[in-house]
Amino acid sequence: MQTVTVLGATGSIGCNTLDVISRHPDDYRVFAITGNSQLDLLMQQAKACSPRFVVVADEALFDDARKLAADYGVTADILCGQRALEEVASAGEVDIVMAAIVGAAGLIPTLAAVKAAKKVLLANKEALVMSGALFIDAAKQSGATLLPIDSEHNAIFQCLPQDFEYGNLQSAGISSILLTGSGGPFREREISTFKEITVEEACHHPNWDMGRKITVDSATMMNKGLEFIEACWLFGASADDITVVLHPQSMIHSMVQYVDGSVIAQMGNPDMRTPIAYGLAWPQRIDAGVETLDFSKIASFTFDTPCMERYPNLKLAIDACRSGQAATTRINAANEVAVGAFLNKQIRFTDIAVVNEETLNKMEPMTVCSLQQILEQDHAAREVAQQIIRGFS
Ligand code: NAD
Ligand code: MG
Repeated sequence: MQTVTVLGATGSIGCNTLDVISRHPDDYRVFAITGNSQLDLLMQQAKACSPRFVVVADEALFDDARKLAADYGVTADILCGQRALEEVASAGEVDIVMAAIVGAAGLIPTLAAVKAAKKVLLANKEALVMSGALFIDAAKQSGATLLPIDSEHNAIFQCLPQDFEYGNLQSAGISSILLTGSGGPFREREISTFKEITVEEACHHPNWDMGRKITVDSATMMNKGLEFIEACWLFGASADDITVVLHPQSMIHSMVQYVDGSVIAQMGNPDMRTPIAYGLAWPQRIDAGVETLDFSKIASFTFDTPCMERYPNLKLAIDACRSGQAATTRINAANEVAVGAFLNKQIRFTDIAVVNEETLNKMEPMTVCSLQQILEQDHAAREVAQQIIRGFS
C-alpha cells in the first residue's frame, strides 16, 4: 500500500489522478489533497477518498473550508496556507507526491517533496522550468525519484533505454529526442486573423481536456516551449538534442531517435490517466481506465515542422532555453502574467508573445542560482510584464 499526496487535486491532472487511484483501492491510499479555491469540489473529493488532510492554499478561505467540511461530513483535518502545502508534500508517511499545482505557485511545495526524497510525479512543468538546475540538484542530493507526467516527457522516459544515465544521450546511442505537439487549435488558421482570437477559441483544445492556463499555452505553443526546457532538465539534454515535431492527432506522445536509424515512439489515446498510472505504478503497469488505441479507426498519422511565425512563443522559449536560467525563469513568469491578462480579456492573443519578448528584452542578463535569486527574478519579471500590459491600455 502506497500513500499519496495530491497537490492540486481539484485541477484536471488532480481529478485524473484521483480517478486512477480510485481504481486501485488496495494499492494506494490518499494522505492529503490540496486545492486553491474550488472548495465544493475539494470537499466532494475528500468525502470520496477519505484523506487524513485537506489543504486549502488560500488562507482567506480557511473558515469557509471548515464550515463546508462539516456540512459534507468530511472528517479529515483541514489545513491552510503555504506551510501546510509543504508539510503534506514532505510528511514522513507519504510515499508518492503528485505535483499538479499550476504555475510558479507549485514550486515550493514540489521542492519540499523533492527534498524529502519522495517519489515525485511531476506534472507542474513550470516549477522545473523556473528553477532548473536547483530542482534537479535537489532531487539528486535527496535521492528523490522524479517521474515525468507531462505526456511527452512520460513518453520519452518510456522510450529511453532502461539503464539510461542522466545526460548521457550520446553513450546511449540517442541522436535526437523528438518532442511532439499537436499544434493546437490554430494550426491552420490564417495568421492575419490571430489578433481576433477569443478566449473561448483559445480555451478549446482539439485533442486534450486540460486546465485553462495550459490550454492557452497549447494554443500559442508556449506549452511546447516550456516542455522543450523541461525535457532538457529532465533528461540532461541540450537544446541541440531536441526537435519539435508537429503531430496533429496527438496519438504519438513523443519519440526517441537512435544512431542506428531506429525511432522508438510511445502511443496511446490522448488521456492523461496513462502517464499518471505509469508514474504511480512505475516500474510496473496498472489499469488506467483508458480506452485502448483502435488502429482500425485511425485514419492517418501526419507530421509537420512548426512555423515560428505562427508560434512566436515557441521560438522565444527555445531561445530562452539556449540563453540560460535567468531567461527561462523570466519567460515563465511573464507568460503566466500574460496568459492571465488574456484570460481576463485585458490583452489580445497576439499580445502574449509581445509581453513575453519585451519582458526578456527589458531585463539585464544575469546568472541566477539560488532559490532566492530565482524567486526574485520571477517576481521582477512579473512586475515588468504587468507594466508592459498597463502600457497597452
Ligand atoms: P488546473 O488549472 O486544472 O488545476 C490547477 C490546480 O492547481 C488546481 O487544483 C488549483 O486549485 C491549484 N492551484 C492554482 N493556483 C494555486 C495556488 N496559487 N496555490 C496552490 N494551488 C493552486 O491545471 P491542470 O491542467 O491540472 O495542470 C496542472 C499542471 O500540470 C500544470 O503545471 C500543467 O502545465 C501540467 N500539465 C497538465 C496537463 C493536463 O492535461 N491538464 C498535461 C500536462 C501537464
Ligand atoms: Mg505535454
